[in-house]
Parts: sequence; C-alpha cells; structure tokens
Amino acid sequence: MVDRPDQASIGKLALEFEGRPPEDVLAWVIGNYGRRTVLACSFGGPSGMVVLDMVMRIGPSTPVYYLDTALLFPETYELVEEASARYGVTPMRVKPRLSVAEQAAVYGPELWRRNPNICCAMRKVEPQLAFLRMYDAWISGIRRDQSATRAHVPVVEWDVKFGLIKVNPLAQWDERMVWTYIRAHNLPYNKLHDGDFPSIGCRPCTRPVSSGESLRAGRWPGFSKTECGLHVVHGGHPQAEDDEL
Ligand code: SF4
Repeated sequence: MVDRPDQASIGKLALEFEGRPPEDVLAWVIGNYGRRTVLACSFGGPSGMVVLDMVMRIGPSTPVYYLDTALLFPETYELVEEASARYGVTPMRVKPRLSVAEQAAVYGPELWRRNPNICCAMRKVEPQLAFLRMYDAWISGIRRDQSATRAHVPVVEWDVKFGLIKVNPLAQWDERMVWTYIRAHNLPYNKLHDGDFPSIGCRPCTRPVSSGESLRAGRWPGFSKTECGLHVVHGGHPQAEDDEL
C-alpha cells in the first residue's frame, strides 16, 4: 500500500496538472504506479467512457473495474460488453457481500426506498473499500460541473476515505467537452443517455430528468441524497450508516 504523501506535495501536484490536458495526469499516474493504478468506470455516465478511452491509449494494461450492485440497468451491462469487445479488456466486476435477496432478508425488501445511505454503503462503498486495498492509485471520471458537491474536485488528491491516490482527469471538463470527445472518437456510451438520463446509477434510484434540471437531479428521487458515498470524505461508511438504523 502506498504511503500517504504530505499535503503540500499533493497540493503541488494538483496545481501542476491544473489547466493541462487529462492525458498528462493519466500518463503521470500510470507511469508512477503502473498496474497498481486502477480505473473505476461506472458505465453509467459519459465521462467514464472518455477516461476509459484515454487510459486504453496511454496504458492499455491498466486494470478497470465497475461496482456491480446487481441493480444496474440492462443498458449498463450491455455497455460493459460493448466496451470490453472494443478495447479487449475485461472490467473486473466488484460485487457487494450480500445479494439483493440476502440484503432483503436482513434489512427488509427494497432498502433503497427507506434508507439509501445504508444500501449504498453496503452495495458500493464497502466493496470498494475492500477492493481498493490492492491498489496505490485510482482514476475516477468525476467533474466539477456535475454538482455542487463536486465543484472543487482537484485533479490529484489523497483519498482519505479509501487510503490511496485519486486522480480526476476530467475535473476541469464540462458535459459539452465530454460529448464532443465521444462523438469525435465514436465511443460507445450508455444508450439511456439518448433518453433523458444524463447520469445513470442503479435502476431503483435513477429517474429521467426534465429540461432545466441538473445533470444529477434524477439520482435518488425523493431523497436529499446526492452522492453514493464514493466521492465524499464523510458519510457512506458501512459502520457509520449501520449506526443510523
Ligand atoms: Fe442501493 Fe440505490 Fe445506492 Fe444502488 S443507488 S446501492 S439501489 S441506494
């Protein structure tokens, strides 16, 4: 496991990559950490497809994974297959400890309707905590324009929650730039984006958005929740969420 760099070094790196193309920070992280770098691709947002394409050009042997909550849309699973065929990679499928049926047996049916925080903690954060222990750096597709909670995302940071370097190469990009890249390179993308689904998570927690709504307005309808816990320092720890019950 990589040692935590001091805050000044990480801050300096983040500043160094500010204003530079995403490929620069990807080349840096893959060059430094090799196959101990891993790309998180949800196959539920256009940014992930851009980052996947860039990573496959820069370091084609970089491992790729997705969190399979077992509640994803069919279109998302189809995209995993399509991207696998295009790039010749098999994204690792990181699964929760409990199946949906086992979770229902312990916590009651459709936990996401009553407590999406604990559901996300068990089906996303906990599996990722265990999985990322094998790596020194992870790459994410999150961007500053996606939501207020992401407005200050640095290009490089120390991920306090997961205990490794985190790189956000598209932090400075916006939705238009992402789609320009996708069209220019004829990338595969989630077919639900052709409807009114700019951001796609699990089936029970994603609705289409209306004109004028924010990109992530369709996530966790009926709740004030805006993040699953993977990209925030606080919240989303399985134990902490358990304490809420
Ligand atoms: Fe559960 Fe919804 Fe979170 Fe998926 S997005 S893990 S269904 S609460």
